[in-house]
Amino acid sequence: MKPPAFDYAAPGSLDEALALLAAKRDGAKLLAGGQSFVPALNFRLARPELIIDLNRVPGLAGIRRDGDGGLLIGAMTRARAIERSEVVARSNPLLHSAIPWIAHVPIRNRGTIGGSLAHADPAAELPAIALACDAILVATGILGKRDIAARDFFLGVFTTALRAGEILTEIRFPAWPPNRRHGFAEFARRHGDFAIVGVAATIDVAADGAVGDARIVVFGAGDTPRRAREAEAALAGSHPDTGALQRAAALAANHVDPPSDHHASAEYRRELAGTLTRRVLEQALAPRARAA
Ligand SMILES: Cc1cc2nc3c(=O)[nH]c(=O)nc-3n(C[C@H](O)[C@H](O)[C@H](O)COP(=O)(O)OP(=O)(O)OC[C@H]3O[C@@H](n4cnc5c(N)ncnc54)[C@H](O)[C@@H]3O)c2cc1C
Repeated sequence: MKPPAFDYAAPGSLDEALALLAAKRDGAKLLAGGQSFVPALNFRLARPELIIDLNRVPGLAGIRRDGDGGLLIGAMTRARAIERSEVVARSNPLLHSAIPWIAHVPIRNRGTIGGSLAHADPAAELPAIALACDAILVATGILGKRDIAARDFFLGVFTTALRAGEILTEIRFPAWPPNRRHGFAEFARRHGDFAIVGVAATIDVAADGAVGDARIVVFGAGDTPRRAREAEAALAGSHPDTGALQRAAALAANHVDPPSDHHASAEYRRELAGTLTRRVLEQALAPRARAA
């Protein structure tokens, strides 16, 4: 497959990239890791006049803690860098545990967190994690920056709240409370394939074992990742037993409106949403080994 003809620019600063983007508007596309965009180009699903390569823009990659214990990740940070980061492992274990489910190492070596979020594939892991963690996505345009909450960012299949002329520059993950537990599971035909359905959860557990804030996000079962709010509400304040986890799982399954396609029927996806929700809740609430 060959891409259509295009002009190419490799700006050396964010200002230069923003100016190029502002000048071309809809005629330009950004290139990050290229792991989704280059196949789309080669299949001629994308026909930009100009490709703006972000790989030489300084300051867009990196992982650091903010003053409040949260995590700041530059949009051009590779998935593999996040996977190997001890800061991420300590500061956001859900993000850390989900990354190895993305494709394979060579793809994670190139693919970026910003590219994955901006691409907004409904079956992708990182949008679901951003939603489960209440992440803030920072969009930068020539007029300045604006914060977009993950819950407002994913609008539909491959559609986000980014405006023409904006570049996703940074992702902020709020601090991870010490009493927060997490679970993550997905089902794909082969390891490395996009999930047919996946579920990510965080559960804040009080000292007496009661569930505080619970977040359950189902992905691959609709146009965007979605919080299973009825299941979350059923768990909040409870000391859940096996029956309660099963009831929450059933609520999560009822909450989704999955498509049927050549990978799986809607009914099968709904079933998976329930089964995987029960599994992630069990993971999150499993008794912890105490440090000696
Ligand atoms: C075989 C294969 C298997 C895969 N399996 C999975 C999987 O299991 N799970 C998964 O989540 N992904 C999977 N992917 C996709 C991979 O994770 C991509 O890396 C990711 O979706 C896009 O990131 P990228 O950096 O490569 O972005 P690119 O492909 O460069 O860009 C993707 C889109 O985002 C836009 N964009 C990129 N960066 C920015 C930015 N900073 N601001 C605004 N717009 C931007 C681009 O213009 C483009 O429209 C797979 C890819 C392949 C080839």
